[in-house]
Amino acid sequence: MLQQALHDPLVAELMGSHTRVSALLTVHDEGLRTLSASKHFRQLLGHSSDGQALLARYGQTITDNLKSALFEGSGWTGSVRIQAQWVSLRLLPWNGLGLLEETPLQPKTEPATPSAAVGLDFPPAVGTLVLHLNDQGIILGASESLGVFMGQESSELKGVDALNLVYRSDAGQFKRLLDQVKYRTTASEGAFRMRNADNQVLLLDWTAAGDGNDIILVGRQSQHHVEAALLQSEERINSILESMSDAFFAIDLHGHISYVNAKGAELLGKPAQLLLGRVLWDRAPQMKKTQLFHTINQAKGSLQPETFQWQNPQDEVWYQIKAYPSQDLISVFFTDISTIKRSENNMRHQAMHDTLTGLPNRLALSQVLDELLNTQAVTQMNMGLLFIDLDGFKAVNDTLGHDKGDELLIAVSKRLKGVVRNSDIVARLSGDEFVITLPYIPGHEAAFNVGRKVVDAVSKRPYELADKAIYIGASVGVALYPEDAQDVESLLKHADIAMYQAKQAGKNTVRMFHSAMSTSLQTKVNLENELHHAIVHDRMELHYQPRMNPQGKVCAVEALARLRNTQGDLVAPLHFIPIAEETGLIIAMGAQVLKKACEWIGQLNTELSEPIGLSVNVSGIQLLDGHLTQTVADVLRDTGFPPHLLELELTETVLMQNHESVHEDLVTLHNMGVHLSIDDFGTGYSSLSMLHKLPVQSIKLDRSFVCELPNTPDSVIITRTVLAMATALGLGVVAEGVETDEQRDFLIDSGVQELQGFGLAKPMTDTDLHHFLKAQNIPGKLGLQVLAGPAPTQPSGQTLGAGIGQVVLDAKPN
Ligand code: C2E
Ligand code: CA
Ligand code: CA
Repeated sequence: MLQQALHDPLVAELMGSHTRVSALLTVHDEGLRTLSASKHFRQLLGHSSDGQALLARYGQTITDNLKSALFEGSGWTGSVRIQAQWVSLRLLPWNGLGLLEETPLQPKTEPATPSAAVGLDFPPAVGTLVLHLNDQGIILGASESLGVFMGQESSELKGVDALNLVYRSDAGQFKRLLDQVKYRTTASEGAFRMRNADNQVLLLDWTAAGDGNDIILVGRQSQHHVEAALLQSEERINSILESMSDAFFAIDLHGHISYVNAKGAELLGKPAQLLLGRVLWDRAPQMKKTQLFHTINQAKGSLQPETFQWQNPQDEVWYQIKAYPSQDLISVFFTDISTIKRSENNMRHQAMHDTLTGLPNRLALSQVLDELLNTQAVTQMNMGLLFIDLDGFKAVNDTLGHDKGDELLIAVSKRLKGVVRNSDIVARLSGDEFVITLPYIPGHEAAFNVGRKVVDAVSKRPYELADKAIYIGASVGVALYPEDAQDVESLLKHADIAMYQAKQAGKNTVRMFHSAMSTSLQTKVNLENELHHAIVHDRMELHYQPRMNPQGKVCAVEALARLRNTQGDLVAPLHFIPIAEETGLIIAMGAQVLKKACEWIGQLNTELSEPIGLSVNVSGIQLLDGHLTQTVADVLRDTGFPPHLLELELTETVLMQNHESVHEDLVTLHNMGVHLSIDDFGTGYSSLSMLHKLPVQSIKLDRSFVCELPNTPDSVIITRTVLAMATALGLGVVAEGVETDEQRDFLIDSGVQELQGFGLAKPMTDTDLHHFLKAQNIPGKLGLQVLAGPAPTQPSGQTLGAGIGQVVLDAKPN
C-alpha cells in the first residue's frame, strides 16, 4: 500500500517537494503515524514518525480531528495558528491513508472555528490580479492586489501552489485553464474563484497565456456581481454533495471533471486532486464502455436526463447512474444499488426456482429448453426429456402430513440430481412432477437407460420419514428432440403423455413416446370430463365377478366399476381409476359403487336360497379422506345390506403407513361387522407379520403370482409360503386371476379358500349375474359346471376345512 501510495504522481510530487509541508499519514494503535513526509515537513516538525510531532504542532483538537477523519477515510480542512502565523491544513483521503498538507495563510481576522464549515462575507473589490506560475502551478510571483486579498505580502505567496488559493469546487476549471496554455502560445480564457482565509470568495474572469514553461494569469473581477447568498447556497450545495452517499461528478461537455465529491474520488480510487480538470475517460477508462460516455458525447444535442445501471468491474458494485445535462455541464450521480440488485436477483432466482427444492421451476425450464433447442437445432444433436411423476406420493403427503411430504420431495430431488450429469437440468414442474433434460443424448436407448436409473434411484431405497421407512415409485416418460417434437411445448407434452402411459403400465416404469400415444393425452382430459359427468349423473356401471369356493360354489362377487363413454363403449378401470384418484372424484365414485352394489346384491340375495357376499374395492384415497366409515354406515342403513356379507378390498400402500386415523376407521368398520381384506397381496411392500396388527380377515393373492403357477418355482414357493403364513395368522386367502385348470388345481391343493378368475367366471353385468346365479341355484346344476374344466379335485381335508371356515363361513348369514 505504501509503495503504491508513493508511486502515485500526486503523492510523489508532494513528498518530493522541498517547499511543501506535506506528509502521508496513517492511524496506528489509535494514534497518528507519519509514513512519509516532504523535506520541509521534516525540517519543521522533526523526524519522529509517531504522532507526537503533529500533536505538538497542531494541538490536541486538530490532531483528534485528523485522526477521526483518517479513521473514517474522509477528508478534512481547517486552519490553525502556529507562532502567530495562520496555516491552512488539508487532509485528503488516499486509499485508507491520508495526505496532509500545511499551507501558510495570513488572515486579517482569526477564523471563528478551525473547521470546514464556513460563513461567507461579501468579497472586497480588488481590481486586476496577476499570477505568475511555473508549469506545475507553483506561484513564482503575484500582484500586490492578490496579496491584499489574501491578507499577506504578495512575496510571501511565492512557492505556494496556486491551487490552494482557488475555491475548491473551481479547481477543475483552474487546472483546465493551465493545461490549455501549458504547451501553447495562444491565450485562453476561463473563470474560477479564489478564496482567502476569511472565506471570502472572489469570482474572476481569467486570461491565461504560457510560453511552454511559465504561465501568466490575469484575472479581472467578474462583471457579474456575486451575491454572498448565492455563494452561500452553493457552499451549502457543496456540503450536501460532500456528505452525500452518492458519488457525484460534474463533467463538462468534453469530459473534464470540474467537480468531484469525496465519494466520487473514492469510486475512481484516486484523490480529487488528481481528478479535477482531468478527462474522466483518462482517469477511469472502464467508464468509457458505459452509456455515460455516450450520454456525455450526445449531451450537446439533448438536454434529456439519462438513467442507467452500471456494474463497476473492479469491485462488482452495481450503480444507478443518473446524468443531468445542462448547457455546459453534466451532473452525474452514482447511487450504489447493490442491495437492490441483490434483492432483484433474489427475486429473479425465486421467480425461476422452486422454493422447496431449489430446483429450476417451470418458467426456468421452458427458458432453458428454448435456449437448448436453439443450439440443438444448430448442432443437430438429440436431446432427451424425461417427465417424471412420483407413484404413491399423494398417500405419503396425506398420511404423514405436508411437512413430511415436503421432506420427501427434497429427498427425491436430491436423488434425481444424483442420477444425472451436471449438464443435465433437473426441474420441478409442480407437486410431484419433475423434468430432466438430457442434452446431446445419443438416442433412444441412452435416454431410456437414464429413465431406468431415475426409477431405481427413486424407488429402490426407502426414505426415512417420521421414523418410518417409506417407499415410493416413479413413472417416467421419455421424448426425444427432434424426433418426437420440434418445439418446447410439444416436447414436454409428449414426454408427459409417455409418462402417463408408464403410469398405466403399472408404475415404476419407463415409457418412450411414440406417435400413437399423442392422442392419449386428449383422451385423458376427455376421460376426466366423462368420469365427472357419469358421477354427477349417477351413471357409473358395475360388473360383478364371482368368487368361488373350491367346490365351485359362488360364495361372493366382486363389484368392478365401469365407465361408459360418449361413444357408448365401456372404459376399463385401469384407465379411469387413476384419474378418479388424482382428481378426488374417487370419493364420490366409491360411495356410488358401494351403494349400487349393495342395492343389487341385496335384491339378488332375496331370490337366492343362500345369500352371497359382496366385495367392493376401496381406494387408499377413500381411506385417507376420513369419511369412509360414515359412508359405509349410511349405505348399510339405507340399503339394509347385512354388514357381515360386505367385504372391503383395501390396498396395501395406505395401510402400511400406519396412519392412526386410518387404523381407527378400520377398527370401526370391523366392529360394524364388515369384512376387510388386502387386495393385490404380494405386489406392495406389506409383510404378513404386519397384517396381524390390522383388523383384516383375508388377503387376495395377486394375479401376477397366480398366472405363473404351477410351473415357475418362485411363484410356487411364494404361494405356498403366503398360504402357510396366512393360515398361521388366521387369515383367509383368495386367489385372483385363476385362468387355467392347472392353476385352479394347484391352488386348491395348496389350500386357498376362494378362487376368482376368468377361468371360473368373467366379470359380468348385473342382469348376467342374475341369470348366472339363478342357474347355479337350480338344484343339481351346481356351480361346478360353471368351471371351465372338470370338477376340481377335492381338497385334502384339514387346511381347506379351516380355510373355508375362515372365509366362507364368515360370509354366511346368521
Ligand atoms: P382388482 O381389484 O385386482 O380387480 C380384479 C381385476 O382383475 C378386474 O379388472 C378383473 O376384471 C381382472 N381379472 C379378474 N380375473 C382375471 C383373470 O383371470 N385374468 C386377468 N387377466 N384379469 C382378471 P378390472 O375390472 O379391469 O379392474 C381393475 C382394477 O381397477 C381393479 O383391480 C381395482 O383395483 C380397480 N377397480 C375396479 N373397480 C373399482 C372400484 O369400484 N373402486 C376402486 N377403488 N377400484 C376399482
Ligand atoms: Ca379387487
Ligand atoms: Ca386384485
